Amino acid sequence: MLVPRIFSLLLIVVLIASCATSPTGQRQLLLFPDSEMSKMGAVAFEETKKQTPLSKNTRLVAYVQCVAAALTKQVPGSTQWEVRVFESPEINAFALPGGKIGVYTGILKVASNQHQLAAILGHEIEHVLANHGNARVSAAYAAQGALSLTQALAGAPSPMKDQLFGLLGIGAQYGVLMPYGRGQETEADVLGHDLMARAGFDPREAVQLWRNMSKAAGGRSPPAFLSTHPANEERIRGLTRRMPEAMRIYEAARKSGRRPDCGQP
Ligand SMILES: [Zn+2]
Repeated sequence: MLVPRIFSLLLIVVLIASCATSPTGQRQLLLFPDSEMSKMGAVAFEETKKQTPLSKNTRLVAYVQCVAAALTKQVPGSTQWEVRVFESPEINAFALPGGKIGVYTGILKVASNQHQLAAILGHEIEHVLANHGNARVSAAYAAQGALSLTQALAGAPSPMKDQLFGLLGIGAQYGVLMPYGRGQETEADVLGHDLMARAGFDPREAVQLWRNMSKAAGGRSPPAFLSTHPANEERIRGLTRRMPEAMRIYEAARKSGRRPDCGQP
């Protein structure tokens, strides 16, 4: 059988070509070009917009966009980030490949100031920059090839489409609970912590944010955010351990005039 052999050879070539190293040195298999990931992100974002109304609170929208802009300004590259605020009590936020950021109004009760919101968005943005979505989709669909993925995305709602959204990190909205791996969480924590500090947000507030999140977990509607980003003492210990370095970055940012003032949620 010649054809399958060519395919498996092709697959091997692709696998060899795409074993990449993440920003903190973890090996990950990336099968999809950025353009393909951006397309997936755009589809997932449009779907979310169809399902959840946008907030009409202009003050709140300006606040979220101010925090997001301060962060994305510190991200190298020319991506135009699209930032939307969804009107929903759900405690959730996400970033998608292709420069999409979604914030649910519910999370602003847990992230109670601009620094804590920056901690969440910094973490989410770094998941995207470190290609964690690509790594997860690649691991799940290494055998199936990109063709069936593109078909699944273009078509009507299906379990495969829901799973894809889960792999991109917005599964909770679709009832697909897919926590990131521990290595990916640590990586997003470390890089997100630096990013918020570089943008002039107080990195000490990241610890408070995760404390608030843990506290909310015991409440009446546990945060959907926690289903994909488990909060635990280990995370808080990790952030605390690297606080001196984050504080140095923060002080330098403040000195060079990066002092975001986005107001209160
Ligand atoms: Zn995470």
